Amino acid sequence: MGYLSQFKISFSGLSQGLHEYNYTIDDKFFEEAQFSGSDIKRAKINLDIDLVKQSGMLTLTFKFESQIQVSCDRCLNDNFIPVNGVQRLIVKFAEEREYEPKDDDEVLILAPSETELDIAQYVYEYINLLMPYQRIPCEILNDFSLCNQEVIEKLTHYQSHGTPAKEEIDPRWEALKSISSKKKNK
Ligand SMILES: [Zn+2]
Repeated sequence: MGYLSQFKISFSGLSQGLHEYNYTIDDKFFEEAQFSGSDIKRAKINLDIDLVKQSGMLTLTFKFESQIQVSCDRCLNDNFIPVNGVQRLIVKFAEEREYEPKDDDEVLILAPSETELDIAQYVYEYINLLMPYQRIPCEILNDFSLCNQEVIEKLTHYQSHGTPAKEEIDPRWEALKSISSKKKNK
């Protein structure tokens, strides 16, 4: 059985009521699943899932407690940020034509003949939804900045003295400049 097979929840044999699952997810999840466009390389995720089975439907509550490695928006150092939160998935069983979703429903429709649900893609999407827009992992500890000061000083220098001669340009500074000028335009 492959690593990802543990994310297939077989619900057909479950009794009605609450069922609890726990997953410890690390880098391997992101390596194995090869989600398109994934920029998460390193992660430590504790995921608890409460699955409630009722007649004709399942309600899955995903509770994430994670440390995800990101590049700092200010200095590009890689570091971990906490990513926590709760997401809910509702599964209903119906032939597609029988079911008319309301606008605000976030519901997955499965045919009544289905017996298992692969949650790997949902885990990945929810983690990305919970990631903060601004990522400054250096400042987690009481606003004490652990940013790479060498990088920031060079960035500040280039901002006040203009662009350095071409051969001096490090691609990382270029990336930083484009990030910071995007922010200024907001
Ligand atoms: Zn930083």
